[in-house]
Order: sequence, then structure tokens, then C-alpha cells
Amino acid sequence: MKQITCAVQDTFDAVKFLDGIKASPEYQNAKSVLVNIFTERVQKDYISYLSGIVREKLEKARVAGLTCIQGLAHGESFRERTILTVLYFSQSEVELLEYDFSEISVDEAKNNFLEVLHKIKNLRGIQVYTTPLKNNVTNDFLSAVNFEHEDVPIFGAGAGFADTAEEQNLYIIGNKIHDNGVVITLFRGERLRIYAESTLGWTPIGKEFKITGVAENHILKTLDGEVAGEIYQNYLGVTSSQSFIENTCEFPFMLKRGDKWLARMPIKKDEEGFVHFTADIHEGEKLVFSYGSKKLILKQSFNLAEYMSRKNLDGLLLHVCRNRQLYLKDDEILEIHAFSNFYREAAGCFAFSEILYKNRSGGLQNSALVVVGFREFSADEKINEEDCYIDFYGARNFIDNKLVEDISLSKKDEIALPFEDRLVNFLHATSRDLYQANLKLEEAATTDGLTKIFNRKKISEIICGELKKKSQEKISLIMFDIDNFKRINDTYGHDMGDEVLVKIAGKAKSCIRSSDSIGRWGGEEFMILLPGAQKEEAREIAEKIRSSINAIQWEKMPAISISVGVTQVRDEEDLQDSYKRVDERLYYAKTHGKNQVCSEDIA
Ligand code: GH3
Ligand code: MG
Ligand code: MG
Repeated sequence: MKQITCAVQDTFDAVKFLDGIKASPEYQNAKSVLVNIFTERVQKDYISYLSGIVREKLEKARVAGLTCIQGLAHGESFRERTILTVLYFSQSEVELLEYDFSEISVDEAKNNFLEVLHKIKNLRGIQVYTTPLKNNVTNDFLSAVNFEHEDVPIFGAGAGFADTAEEQNLYIIGNKIHDNGVVITLFRGERLRIYAESTLGWTPIGKEFKITGVAENHILKTLDGEVAGEIYQNYLGVTSSQSFIENTCEFPFMLKRGDKWLARMPIKKDEEGFVHFTADIHEGEKLVFSYGSKKLILKQSFNLAEYMSRKNLDGLLLHVCRNRQLYLKDDEILEIHAFSNFYREAAGCFAFSEILYKNRSGGLQNSALVVVGFREFSADEKINEEDCYIDFYGARNFIDNKLVEDISLSKKDEIALPFEDRLVNFLHATSRDLYQANLKLEEAATTDGLTKIFNRKKISEIICGELKKKSQEKISLIMFDIDNFKRINDTYGHDMGDEVLVKIAGKAKSCIRSSDSIGRWGGEEFMILLPGAQKEEAREIAEKIRSSINAIQWEKMPAISISVGVTQVRDEEDLQDSYKRVDERLYYAKTHGKNQVCSEDIA
């Protein structure tokens, strides 16, 4: 595999470049070819003409792309040029799919796409270019895909434009040009590996706010019941709507999805004080302000570049948020250099809403840098699979002690630390303390003091949350109660009873997956939630829990047994309905000899 990039001035330039490609042995020997186009010329006719030329000249090639704020090539950003970057694959294949949301509903597109994916083997990555300002549904689409194909990274960007996002049609390029849709490129190949990572560099500060009102998936109406604009006023002192962006760009909001922090940059505040974003937000999510230290932002990018440089890449794409450019100004180019220094043909763009989903986490991002490295391994090379799935971004916990040390970038014995460094250190340290204190409080409010598993309030919340999702996936519940527990207390003492509760909770927890949840429901009763499990599977897990607990050898006591009820949650049911059924089944097990699992309706 190989990548060649060119920043072309006009179509004449493009033709010259494409003729060169066509004549090259790399092109002729390639099994498949992708040409990505990044252009700041937001003119449908031009884009249509240019992409037509690429398809005509390079018959083998699939063509994708988007309008952007600036294109990136060879470590430079270009205002008046279009970037063409050609990725040749010697054994892997590239396929193109496009959905126009003015012609097909998002749900139909999603189902169609999931069907396509089910038939594909050795899928290694999904590139997505989209129009985030026209539709705020991209996240519905992509998170569903990520949920079913968690080991395949989804990466890309939203179309952008240099001046203002509003009242302007932005375009994505596929076989057609779309102003409302997605263009998807699928990469598949047995020996192809794609390393998709992102870095942000902004760090959360201060308290969390809960999103209490959202319109159209991207307009933030209220936080903790207060109009969103007022939060900016109260915490940052920003009152004016006119210079709202300038006054807030250093302080994007952040929220956590899965194990990833995503930033949310406002694009405007409206007359009602509601704040508009380019990426999705949802009621119930928590937002926290963040602050970017330029040094730390760059340091994290350099770390990512260093990590990528060790991968011997055959191709490299960069999707950079315009906010990095706004905020880092002249220094922005330094982070681009960090990548072009080890891979000169790296290409990409400044865009709106960078995309990175992997391992059921991530999403549409703001203020981030999404980096995608390609590597096609030859037949005699060893592939280190583990290396492909390391999560660079997720691995960096934002608020641990180390980060505070990282910020002190000035030389240790320098007498006067810059004022900014000291202030940022102070903000980080205070936020870290606040965050850790909150974690402790939250832990105290949600865990059972004795067994350290969730308490009844928390497991109920988790179950209700899962039921609300109304996904197509089945959900099952397991409930169990220790048999003759009172006798254990009476015979061996209350302390021994406590020890039994702790051991049994631990044993049950060790029998379930990390995506399942277990909580203490009452004295010696436990509830387990199994998302994605049908009744048969839940019954097997219940049986495993029952037999493992029964097999525990106690120093001074005979074996202990449990009685277990199992049920699969039915459509449209709430917690109360399914709880009633699982409790009845547990009762049946209890009254029919104990030490057994009941998973059927009792006539
Ligand atoms: P069955 O097989 O029908 O479930 O009988 P059982 O003895 O297990 O049930 P019962 O409801 O009669 O007794 C439950 C006992 O659990 C009574 C209570 O004192 C004890 N218990 C509840 N919470 C705790 C606790 O935190 N520690 C200890 N040691 N005992 C507890
Ligand atoms: Mg009992
Ligand atoms: Mg009981």
C-alpha cells in the first residue's frame, strides 16, 4: 500500500497529477484505489466536475471527500487549493456507499447499511464524511453501527466552510455530490490494519452540569434547569450574543461518552439564550467546561504523532477541528508538522465535527484531531493484533496527577514559571480535587457499603436506563436470594453472615460480563441486568452463578445454595412489570425445593 498527495490549484493541475498517477506502476498494480478530495471551494459545479475527472482518469478509483475550511498536505495548510490524496492498496479493497437524507430516512439508511456490513468479511475501517449542520442524526446512524461492529473504527469529518457555517450549503463527495447525507468508504482486507486515534488536549474544569433541555439533538436549551446562555454568563461572564464564539472558544464544553471525552463547541447563542452546537447532545448527559493550555494541547498531539510514527504506516489521514486553528493560531501548523515529519504524504482537512467511534465509545467530536493510519502487512510480516486496538486517547486519563505534572512544561529549575502555567496548574489541581471528591460522593451514593456492588437505587436506575433505550436488543434479568440465610446468621454469627454476603456477591459478579450489572436488592437478595441476552443465555448464566456459589468451600460451614429467577424483558415493559415476573419465578424456585433456577412462567 502507498499514498500520494497533491495540492492542486485548478483542474488543469489536477489532470496533470492524475495522468502521472495513471501511468505509475503503483496504480497499475493496485488491487483497489481510493482518492479523497478535500476542498475549500464550496461550489457544487466545481466539485462535481473535479470528482468526475478523477473517476474518468482513474477507472479503478473510488472517490470520496468533502468541503472544508482548509486542506492539508505535506505539512502545509492551503487556502486556495484542493487536496487530492490517492491511497493504493495492493491486496485490500475499498467500497463506497452513500445515503442522501433528502431521499432516504436515516432509519432506512441505517438498516440498509447494517445489512451491507453483515455480509462483509475482514472489515477494518469505515470512513465517513457527513453534513453535520444539515442533519443532527449522524450520531444515531454511526453509534448503531459502532455498537454492532465495535472492533471496526469509524472515522472522518463533517463538511465545513471558512467563513460562517450558516445559510451555506456544504458538500460531501461520493459518486454524487450531497448537501445532506453521508458518504461512507469501507476498507477491507485480511492483512490491512487501520489505526484510528484522536487527541483533544482540552481538560475539564469545574463542576458538572446536567443537560435538562435539548432541541433537535444539537440546541442546548437548559442545564440544571437554567437557560444555557445564563450558565456562560454566570461562570465565564460572557453576556453578549455577538462576540459569543470569540469569548467561548477557549472553553468548550466536554461530555463523556463511554470512556471518551468529547468536546462541544458552540456556534451561536440565539435570542432565547439557547446555545447551538455542530454535534449532538442528549438530555441527561453531563457537561463540564474545559480549558485548553496551548502547550498541553500540542504536547498531546506530539505524543500521538510519536505513537503513530512507530507503526511504519503506508497511509495517513488527518481531520482537524477548526477550533484548534482558531485557538492555536500559528502554532497549529506545528502539530501538522509532527505528522508530516514522519509521513510526508499525510493529507487531510480542517473541518467541523471530527468523527471517531471505536469500542462502543466516542462519537462526533469538536476541537479534536482525528488521525488515521493505514498499514497493509505483507504475507511474511507478523501482525501484532493487540497493537491495533490500543486506545491512545482512552488511555490518557484527563485528571490524574500525571497530567498536572505534564502541564509544568517549563524547565524545573527555571525561577519564574509563566503566569499561565501556574494558573492552569491551579485550575487542574482544583478540578482534580473536585472531581475526586465527586467520585467518592457518587460511589457512596451508588454502592452497597458491605458488598461494594451497586445498591438498589443504582441498579434500578441502570435497568430503567436500559429499558428506556428501546434498542432492538433483548434484555434479561436474574434475581437470586440466598437459601436459609437466617440459619447461617443464627448458627455462625452475624459477622459470618456478612462475610458470606461479600463472597457470594463477588462470585456472582465474576460470572457475568463487564457489560452486565449486578446490585444488592435487599438483605440477601441480588439483581442482575444482562443487556443483549435472550432468556436461554440468561438461564445459562443463572445456572453458572448457582453452581459456582454452591461450589464455594467454606471453612466451617457446609455448602450454601441460592434460589434464582430469570426473565427476559418483554417489549414495552417497565421495571415494575419485569421485576414482578422475575420475583414470582424466584419465589417458585424457593418454594419448590430451593437451590434451583426457574425461568418459565408458572401456570
Ligand atoms: P429463605 O431460604 O426462604 O430465603 O430463608 P432465609 O433465612 O434466607 O430468609 P429470611 O428472609 O427468613 O432471612 C433473611 C435474613 O437475612 C434475615 C436478616 O437478618 C439477614 N440479613 C439481612 N441483611 C443482612 C446483612 O447485611 N448481614 C447479615 N449478616 N444478615 C443480614
Ligand atoms: Mg433467603
Ligand atoms: Mg430474602
